[in-house]
Amino acid sequence: RSKRRGRGQITVYSQEIALEMKRATQLEQALRNAIIANEVDVHFQPIVSLRDDTVVGFEALARWCDADLGYVSPAVFVPLAEERGFIDALSDTLLRKAAEAALSWPKELFLSFNLSSAQLMDPKTAFNTLAILNRVGLDPRRLELEITETAVMTDADTAQKIVGELRAAGVRISLDDFGTGQSSLGRLRDFTFDKVKIDRAFVSRISNDKASEHIIKAIVAMCEGLDLAVVAEGIEDFSEALKLKALGCGMGQGYFYGKPADAVATLRFLADRYISVEGRAAS
Ligand code: C2E
Ligand code: MG
Ligand code: MG
Ligand code: MG
Repeated sequence: RSKRRGRGQITVYSQEIALEMKRATQLEQALRNAIIANEVDVHFQPIVSLRDDTVVGFEALARWCDADLGYVSPAVFVPLAEERGFIDALSDTLLRKAAEAALSWPKELFLSFNLSSAQLMDPKTAFNTLAILNRVGLDPRRLELEITETAVMTDADTAQKIVGELRAAGVRISLDDFGTGQSSLGRLRDFTFDKVKIDRAFVSRISNDKASEHIIKAIVAMCEGLDLAVVAEGIEDFSEALKLKALGCGMGQGYFYGKPADAVATLRFLADRYISVEGRAAS
């Protein structure tokens, strides 16, 4: 297209690219500063059992609001930190904060934390992760790490090794955004993990799309056969929750059950909503 429009257009494009690169570099600098200044925060979204709607854990989600740039989505700054080579620094701060917050929750609740794909290619990740837990004092058996199919497929051997070390320490692994990556079911068979999170794309269409319902049904059946736990992501209303319950999906997460909230609000949420294991048995 640029050819037909002539040279002037090419100049405009290259100016746009230059501007884009400048913006990314500004963002990078602001993010690096925010990490040092301890301004990147972590919020928590409840994960519930769909059998009785009780809270079983929380997913940690990174949050960053810059004074000049405003709110920046983790879907933007996490990939940027990966590209520019400081995802470790970012992730370590986030995990430390998340683990510290989880210390104040009832012990039977798990903390689910997202690992980026770059971290699954770095052999240091297992050691780093366990060192942070050890320093904070959080039992590795309370941690779940969310990884994506893409990360598993890119460098399967390294990923498998990292995951093996973490699982040996009691950390569980869940496959995030399931159904959206370039899945190879064969690879999934060889890869050891504990839980599958069904991507929001299927859940959000469940009410008016039979195909999505069939796909979820198949994933639930597959997980049952493979002895994997299953979570539906992005449940936004009561009818979606009902449908997922009817399909036998074990766990759910989404705005219907709770939006991501900061550590203090999460404690308030627990005070209002949490029923202990003993309380559940009594009721
Ligand atoms: P994800 O791990 O799949 O997280 C779920 C995303 O869906 C979150 O977006 C969450 O706020 C959003 N969500 C939850 N329930 C609902 C719902 O009912 N409706 C809708 N429309 N959305 C819902 P968020 O917080 O913007 O995070 C986006 C992505 O950024 C995450 O996707 C994850 O891949 C990445 N991310 C976030 N925090 C971290 C982190 O600490 N480390 C790494 N490596 N990645 C992170
Ligand atoms: Mg996730
Ligand atoms: Mg997800
Ligand atoms: Mg996602």
